[in-house]
Amino acid sequence: MTEDTIVAIATPPGRGGIGVVRLSGDRAMELTLGLVRLGKQPPDTQRSTLGTAVDPETGKILDEVVVTCYRQPHSYTGEDVVEISCHGAPVILGYLVQCCLERGARAAEPGEFTMRAFLNGRIDLTQAEAIRDLIEARTLYQARVAATQLGGGLSARLKPHKQALVELIAILEAGIDFADDDVEVVNRTEILKRLDAVSADLGKLAEGFGYGRIVREGLSLSIVGRPNVGKSSLFNRLLNMDRAIVTSVPGTTRDLVTETASIGGIPVCLVDTAGIRKASDDVERIGVERSHQAMADSDLRLLVVDSSQDWTEEDTELFHKTRHLGAMLVAANKADLPLRTPKAKIENLLRAESGEGTPPSEIITTSALTGQGIEELRDKILQSVAAGENLGSEGELVTNLRHQQLLKASVAALRRCHRAAELEVHHEMLLLDLYDALHQLDTLTGTTDVEDILGMIFSKFCVGK
Ligand code: GDP
Repeated sequence: MTEDTIVAIATPPGRGGIGVVRLSGDRAMELTLGLVRLGKQPPDTQRSTLGTAVDPETGKILDEVVVTCYRQPHSYTGEDVVEISCHGAPVILGYLVQCCLERGARAAEPGEFTMRAFLNGRIDLTQAEAIRDLIEARTLYQARVAATQLGGGLSARLKPHKQALVELIAILEAGIDFADDDVEVVNRTEILKRLDAVSADLGKLAEGFGYGRIVREGLSLSIVGRPNVGKSSLFNRLLNMDRAIVTSVPGTTRDLVTETASIGGIPVCLVDTAGIRKASDDVERIGVERSHQAMADSDLRLLVVDSSQDWTEEDTELFHKTRHLGAMLVAANKADLPLRTPKAKIENLLRAESGEGTPPSEIITTSALTGQGIEELRDKILQSVAAGENLGSEGELVTNLRHQQLLKASVAALRRCHRAAELEVHHEMLLLDLYDALHQLDTLTGTTDVEDILGMIFSKFCVGK
């Protein structure tokens, strides 16, 4: 248990219907009773009690409040916690906090309540990280993914693997420590089989990070194309609003316009690039440079072409520029007009240009005017980032770079172990790698219960004759 009692305003800054002052620590209740007169004393735990906040200096009434007490260990932090809900008046909230500080509480650091929850074993590290992700979620889908992790989804997923590693370690340790006893050491094939099962699944989890990162952080999509092909109009369609100024004079979208839309619950940052064209002045040149940068930086590129016009050299040039930067889609826009370059023709052109048998990217027929093909375009945007991913299971997602790095390190250690086992290296060497693999997973969840599990497994071994 940490020694001091911490206090903070738990609601966002500014005025509101209610505002909450939260205290955690041994003195939480005592400090509260110095500030609030309660109708019922002592207040029930985990129930709300109506009270009156009173200025401890003057005895004058400050506000009507509701106090909720949580006795340790049944609280968010695992310590005694009190939440005082006042009216959302910044002066009152600030004054109550100040009174607590003057009476020996300490101002909580950012995230300190959650840190205490972790230190007191209420939650593991992945859950603590999930709380931050949940608070920062911009779409409901992101919130759901974070909530699954908060519920211990990732830790639960890793648990059987940790158990398997601990078992292997125990078996090998037994082989060494009690070499003279009759403990049967599993054979090499069995070791390899167990190793492979764990590393295959951990590897799969780590690979899912590409999509997991996008779920957590969002995806950036730059829209490129000749002037006047309908980039701004498509951009607005994807956003469902009029952000970029649509105009029929070429080259007026001089700067980058960025806006975030939620597509399938994933925040997609759309970048409408200045028409990439031969710049006629300095301002336009800067715009063109920025467009190139945005194209290179984004996760996905959408090349827009005007299918009511003939295909031009500039389209070809843009296609080549774009395709070398990574994943791309093509929108054959203005499909509501008589077509001069329909999808099939574009497909042939691109096939010829890329010199490959299959078209190098998906082509979607759209009309920013009528809305035709917009849903398909949204779907393809999602599919292009989630190729082969299982979109359904939020618990399977690794959304955090720290987690991915540790998973990869664990897999690397298991691979080393595999090679060593194949070479019939002494068990002691295998153990080093196994401990390493396990340690990475422990670091991920922030748990160090290896000793306990080892003890448990050894106790089943009946070695101590
Ligand atoms: P940008 O320069 O590529 O951003 O093109 P804009 O979005 O500014 O569009 C240029 C012109 O084409 C405007 O007059 C739009 O109304 C028109 N436009 C855009 N998309 C379509 C479409 O799908 N069909 C038709 N008929 N007109 C379109």
